[in-house]
Amino acid sequence: MLLEGKKGVIIGVANKRSLAWGIANAAARHGARLAFSYQGERLKENVEELSATVKDPLIFPLDVTKDDQIASMGDLLKREFGTVDFLIHAVAFAKREELDGKFVDTSREGYLLAQDVSSYSLTAVSRAVAPLMEGREGSIVTLSYLGGERVVSNYNVMGVAKAALEMSVRYLAADLGPQGIRVNAISAGPVKTLAAAGIHGFSKILETYRNYAPLRRNVTQEDVGDTGLFLISSLSRGITGEVIHVDAGFHVLGFVPPV
Ligand code: NAD
Repeated sequence: MLLEGKKGVIIGVANKRSLAWGIANAAARHGARLAFSYQGERLKENVEELSATVKDPLIFPLDVTKDDQIASMGDLLKREFGTVDFLIHAVAFAKREELDGKFVDTSREGYLLAQDVSSYSLTAVSRAVAPLMEGREGSIVTLSYLGGERVVSNYNVMGVAKAALEMSVRYLAADLGPQGIRVNAISAGPVKTLAAAGIHGFSKILETYRNYAPLRRNVTQEDVGDTGLFLISSLSRGITGEVIHVDAGFHVLGFVPPV
């Protein structure tokens, strides 16, 4: 029981396939109490049903582009939890048309939207939750992808948002480290989720990882969940500002045939 007596916030559960749900499951198994956000009424029922399978959950609405909702999250957590030990940020969005074709065609509006939801939101939610982590050795974990380091076909504007997200991890680690708060990212290999379905040619990407990744397989929600558990537990107490690849080793490769 690595998280006995700990309380955490999970942002980014849409359904049972969500990577956030993989981490939530691992955290719940290890004794944590969890608060889940849901993005709008459309996803409320899903999150209600899933959260009902863990002990004593809290659920609340959150659109990460809305400052008033982020402030309400902080108030609710202070009232209901008092303190928070970890925060999972597993949120990304870009318009479907920006995840197909050429990056050079990215619109200003599409660029700003992807950055707002997928990158800036980490800083905004970290700022809201950090005061509740005072004296708790807090841990903040976000989710990234290799497309933030290298060019991946069709990932386009989301790759640029992930690059900004990974750099935000380093700046936040430097800012919050003196308060004992660690900030890290998991760079996950492709997993079939709702968000992934928006990327043109996603099944081809899965196939490429299966064929060429050193471990010759795709990673699972559980692979990501267990690394999330490691990063929010004291097992990783000396690690901050890091991006850990959970991708069956794909990131070490040089040339692979284009997908
Ligand atoms: P998912 O669709 O299950 O989760 C994405 C979540 O983002 C959803 O819960 C959605 O409600 C939330 N979201 C989008 N816009 C939001 C907003 N404005 N306010 C609040 N929430 C919002 O998909 P997932 O694959 O589990 O994605 C989680 C994270 O993992 C994302 O950052 C994604 O880029 C990253 N990731 C996914 C993969 C993959 O292959 N699935 C690989 C690497 C990284």
